[in-house]
Amino acid sequence: MTEAPAWTRQDRCRLPREAATFSGTGQHPNPMDLNTARLRTAGLTDVFEKLRADQRLDRKDGERLFACPDTTLIGALAHFIRTRRYGLKTTYVLNQQINYTNICQNRCLFCSYQRETGQSGAFQLELRDILEKVQHSPASITEVHIVGGCHPELPLGFFEDMLAGIKSVRPRAILKCFTPVEIAHFARLEGLSVTTVLKRLHRAGLDMLPGGGAEIFAPRVRKRICPRKISGAEWLDVCGQAHRLGLPTNCTMLFGHLENEHDRLEHLDLLRRQQDETGGFLCFIPLPFLTANNRLSGVRGPSGLEELKTVAVSRLMLDNIPHIKSYWVMLGLMQAQAALYFGADDLDGTVVEERIGHMAGADSPQILSRAELQEMIHGCGLVAVERDARFEPIPPAAERLTGHDGAEPQ
Ligand code: SF4
Repeated sequence: MTEAPAWTRQDRCRLPREAATFSGTGQHPNPMDLNTARLRTAGLTDVFEKLRADQRLDRKDGERLFACPDTTLIGALAHFIRTRRYGLKTTYVLNQQINYTNICQNRCLFCSYQRETGQSGAFQLELRDILEKVQHSPASITEVHIVGGCHPELPLGFFEDMLAGIKSVRPRAILKCFTPVEIAHFARLEGLSVTTVLKRLHRAGLDMLPGGGAEIFAPRVRKRICPRKISGAEWLDVCGQAHRLGLPTNCTMLFGHLENEHDRLEHLDLLRRQQDETGGFLCFIPLPFLTANNRLSGVRGPSGLEELKTVAVSRLMLDNIPHIKSYWVMLGLMQAQAALYFGADDLDGTVVEERIGHMAGADSPQILSRAELQEMIHGCGLVAVERDARFEPIPPAAERLTGHDGAEPQ
């Protein structure tokens, strides 16, 4: 029997159209309404004026946004910016994620994925397993996204062979591989500079870096949740070096654990400064902390409203980072749809197989098809546009012209 599509399986992809488009009627106020009285009541008239005039918000503005109890007003401000840039266009990508190992020497306390060598549940894919996964994925996939733990023994040559092998199987796909944390780990392990590692991987086929491992930059919190991981400054430095070599990256923030709103704003500010300097961040992905199976006991994770407000404040503060992703794997399908009205303009992709978020308790599916992603976007009154990993739109006709077979991840 064919498995039902994810949205009917979970019955969560579709929001009632009138709710999803926030078309308030009757006595209910329209949550997307930016009227003068509402802004005045919230004390945010000047913030709106700054946004209208394309002026940068400062940290104090950010604090006021987080402190504002009218969460849907913050969403409306973010939606104002998002629609001014992109209208109702919402992008998605046909991608495949591969996690090559969960053996990692960093042992971050928030991580549900990490295992020690030889520990039950530990895995490390061989090169042929990875190539098999790519070979068996639909030819329509335009992005291969690969990340893993900081394995104490895998040499740089393993990753060079991996990239070259995947490029030979999928020459048109963009290879978005290895977080800045992994890059710094490879450099340390090999006794090479970060630039040398990036250049070698680039030569082997690396096109860009994903944005994981940023967590939260505040040293006070970082020391408690991931003491062995590279510092925030080092993470930003790897990104800067990648950008200077012409390798774009994404960036992330893990929130809802031991950090506070001040730490989040500092994190966003540091990303914004890095972007002013090197300009290579394509997309910011706010990641809510998922609480299952890790060593950060007693932490509840963010509430749904906190998630949405953080997405919205990110959109408003990060005026120089083009895209904000609503990552359905971590947010869940319905919340990912709601985030598209709180400043996010991208829904990520088909994913195919994801382990990191799911080992931390994500109850989202492992895979969505193109039709399901489109349905999620159309279902909340927005316009779906396929993109590649660099956020370049892929016109539907391009599939025929470039020989994509149109096969869908099912
Ligand atoms: S978060 Fe990444 S670096 Fe930290 S333990 Fe998990 S896999 Fe390793």
